[in-house]
Amino acid sequence: MDQREEYRAAARTWLQAHAPRPADGLSGEEYLRRAREFQAALFAGGYAGITWPKDAGGQGLSTAYQQIFGEESAEYELPTDPFMIGMGMCGPTLVDLGSAEQKQRYLPKLLSGEEIWCQLFSEPGAGSDVASLQTKAVRDGDGWVLNGQKVWTTNAQFADFGALLARTDPERSKHAGITMFVVDMHAPGVTVRPLRDMSGRAPFNEVYFDDVRIPADAVIGELNRGWQAAVTMLSHERVSIGASRRSRNSPLEFGALVELARRNGTDRDQGVREALAEQYAHERALELFNVRMRQETAAGNPPGARGSVAKLAGALLLRRAIETAGQAAGAGAVAWDPEDHATSELVRGINSVPASNIAGGTNEIQRGIIGERILGLPKEPQVDRDMPFRELKVGTQRTPA
Ligand SMILES: Cc1cc2nc3c(=O)[nH]c(=O)nc-3n(C[C@H](O)[C@H](O)[C@H](O)COP(=O)(O)OP(=O)(O)OC[C@H]3O[C@@H](n4cnc5c(N)ncnc54)[C@H](O)[C@@H]3O)c2cc1C
Repeated sequence: MDQREEYRAAARTWLQAHAPRPADGLSGEEYLRRAREFQAALFAGGYAGITWPKDAGGQGLSTAYQQIFGEESAEYELPTDPFMIGMGMCGPTLVDLGSAEQKQRYLPKLLSGEEIWCQLFSEPGAGSDVASLQTKAVRDGDGWVLNGQKVWTTNAQFADFGALLARTDPERSKHAGITMFVVDMHAPGVTVRPLRDMSGRAPFNEVYFDDVRIPADAVIGELNRGWQAAVTMLSHERVSIGASRRSRNSPLEFGALVELARRNGTDRDQGVREALAEQYAHERALELFNVRMRQETAAGNPPGARGSVAKLAGALLLRRAIETAGQAAGAGAVAWDPEDHATSELVRGINSVPASNIAGGTNEIQRGIIGERILGLPKEPQVDRDMPFRELKVGTQRTPA
């Protein structure tokens, strides 16, 4: 057996022993406890931060091994959501840009499930155009004082730390006066309020900062180079969302859709069969695109703007899947038994699809990136790019910055 096959066999055995059985109806706290336990087990088993360098607490392996572990874990519904932002976005950004002290302080506890992270970028007036952000950090002695509001912050309700973008120099142009900080979510002056989505759950939040003190060593990367840090994190985010493998048990995967058609007796319908065949072809094409992207990354060619292709294709695939699900469910798409677990999961999956076309950058934004950076089309005109931020009329800016 070669090394990779050995790794696959070991990962399979480990998952059989450690993957928690799917559990319905867990309270938020029980789910969180389960997620922490599983993350701790991943760390102890050597399966957390597979591609992170060893000095950052990772395993120092190539993406081929990450891919193998991803393929094996797709057989399970693993409780990894609370760590998704930390492991997929904040952690890799700290690996790239964090100081030696930051890496030592934060990464091991993220990997071992002791600390949870969130991403504090979006504001009421700054989503797609996140460089319009108005949360400001003002120098005070050695440290900073933070004031402002963030929104749509996933997992802020149980996060210990956040990677936050704040304006640190309003005299500079809007992209040039931003800094990225580590913020302690338990610090005095941080208020987290839940926001409900249409499924009735509250996966994200509004977060308010009122005179929150941040120490000088909380800057990630360099002062006033937060935009570059944000671009680093967003590229990790797109790859993490786009290239992540959904569980094969997900109700919007091809296998589950075939099963849905069988249960509803629509599997002999020609239209449904064609929709399922197309679903399979698109799912497989995206899977292979992601395999290739990971292999190229392993060979030293980072994905860059191709992460946007993966993110966009993943979002469009889900949209296609809900149409296929509607056809496969037949009359069951209009009325269903709420006690029926499989159908309730499907409905929850369908309700989450619009959000997946927005979170991590909307489809229009991904198309813009692909147009400019892959296809070489002309850039969108940006009249505000070189003006000092203080002079701009942006978003909800009412008072001088
Ligand atoms: C489920 C979910 C989780 C999220 N989690 C987080 C999180 O943890 N942390 C965080 O910081 N943010 C988070 N977000 C916020 C997310 O990043 C923003 O919602 C997203 O970037 C869009 O910003 P917006 O909502 O302000 O929409 P807007 O930017 O106001 O966009 C409105 C519409 O205009 C279109 N549009 C805007 N600009 C352009 C353009 N230049 N060209 C073409 N069309 C354009 C958009 O595509 C969209 O259709 C989350 C969002 C969702 C849905």
